[in-house]
Amino acid sequence: MVKEELWQAVLAQIQLNISQANFATWFKDTSITSCKEGQVLVSVPNSFAKEWLENKYGKTIFKILYNLDEEIKEVKYSVGKVELKILKRAQVTLPPAGQLEFEEFKVNEETNLNPRYTFENFVVGPFNELAHAAAWATTKKPGLVYNPLFVYGGVGLGKTHLLQAIGNIIIKNFSQKKVRYIPAEKFTAGVVSSIKNHDIENFKTKCRAIDVLILDDVQFLAGKEKTQEEFFHTFNTLYENNKQIVLSSDRPPKAIPALAERLRSRFEGGMIGDIGYPDYETRIAILKTKSQERGTSFSEEVLDYIASNIQRNIRELEGALNRLIAYQKINNQTANLEIAKSLLRNLFLSPNKVANPRKIIQVVSEFYDLKEKEILSSSRKREIVKPRQIAMFLLREILKSSYPFIGRKFGGKDHTTAIHACGKILKELATDENLTNELDLIKQRIYSG
Ligand code: ADP
Ligand code: MG
Repeated sequence: MVKEELWQAVLAQIQLNISQANFATWFKDTSITSCKEGQVLVSVPNSFAKEWLENKYGKTIFKILYNLDEEIKEVKYSVGKVELKILKRAQVTLPPAGQLEFEEFKVNEETNLNPRYTFENFVVGPFNELAHAAAWATTKKPGLVYNPLFVYGGVGLGKTHLLQAIGNIIIKNFSQKKVRYIPAEKFTAGVVSSIKNHDIENFKTKCRAIDVLILDDVQFLAGKEKTQEEFFHTFNTLYENNKQIVLSSDRPPKAIPALAERLRSRFEGGMIGDIGYPDYETRIAILKTKSQERGTSFSEEVLDYIASNIQRNIRELEGALNRLIAYQKINNQTANLEIAKSLLRNLFLSPNKVANPRKIIQVVSEFYDLKEKEILSSSRKREIVKPRQIAMFLLREILKSSYPFIGRKFGGKDHTTAIHACGKILKELATDENLTNELDLIKQRIYSG
């Protein structure tokens, strides 16, 4: 095999085993530059990639190569073209107990940065180390290492924290740089209002004077054509002037619907880092860090109880902890396992575990004092129609059921009936506070038994 083929074969196998983001990040612009006397030399674009390939993928790469050619005894990595001197991984140091309460942190009005989000209190584990390392590298040479940096991951997993931490540390180390953190929705609102006020030039000038633009939750740009267009031009201007752009989204650029192709390819043009779900050990580490930040601590069994029950959302981990801390403040007593269980049990009841179509229909019928048969009938009596629509709405909202499925559940109705019902309730919820309260009560009943 010639060296190009050899490397292609390695890449093909690696690609099967790691996420798209990881692959794009670490294997982009790599190649085998020489292969002789059992030694393979792999060229990588920067020292950051070198460190990662050696440490994280070195063994795998060697194994694959060895399987392809038993002569191969050693793999070496070297930085091709430009050497960028970067970074050691940030050490996570726990802040001293009794640190400032969160309430005392103020969002800076100019930058929109909240000083509570730092690298120091961002816990790193296998699920986020890629995004973290990329973010850290970006802060060393804003605009020059990874541009744009695109971080994606599910809700409550630390995207905003990481993006804000980037902003905070850049401000600290490069005080002359103009850093702006903007949620994508706010950016959209800015575009809309400046169009309305015939002020778009001013808006453009302002955006283009930024040195580090951090745009959070760019999935909200989906379908907003005018905003995308503005952002595209801003992006290009900043990019061409080596200004840093950092983006986050709940999904990779490819999966954002109604995103202009040219913007998508810009998003994919830099570094993409994904954040997955935290493993058990990291969940425990996060709980410990957060407790310590708040000047308190809990027993291992309490932490284990929380970490075992909340697996996919760090914000919820914090929420559970907050409940225990509130209890502690009020009662002047630390929650033990038994108390923690009684305080948190409800929180852990995932709606998807306890709710099902039958349960929803049963609770709604009971709530409105109807028989299940009535709610499932085709009766057009007002006192039946409304609860039926609510039940349909809840099937959609809680279980994410499809409209045809909902139609079928309610005595074989057409999917358009289900769409109409859900739309109607949604609209009424916007103005009718009583209905909101009713639905809350119904949901509590659905989840509580
Ligand atoms: P997202 O923007 O992905 O929805 P956030 O960044 O708002 O999530 O994170 C939710 C909460 O969890 C925040 O309070 C944040 O400080 C915390 N958090 C997330 N990831 C970490 C982490 N790795 N270490 C410490 N706290 C974290
Ligand atoms: Mg966020």
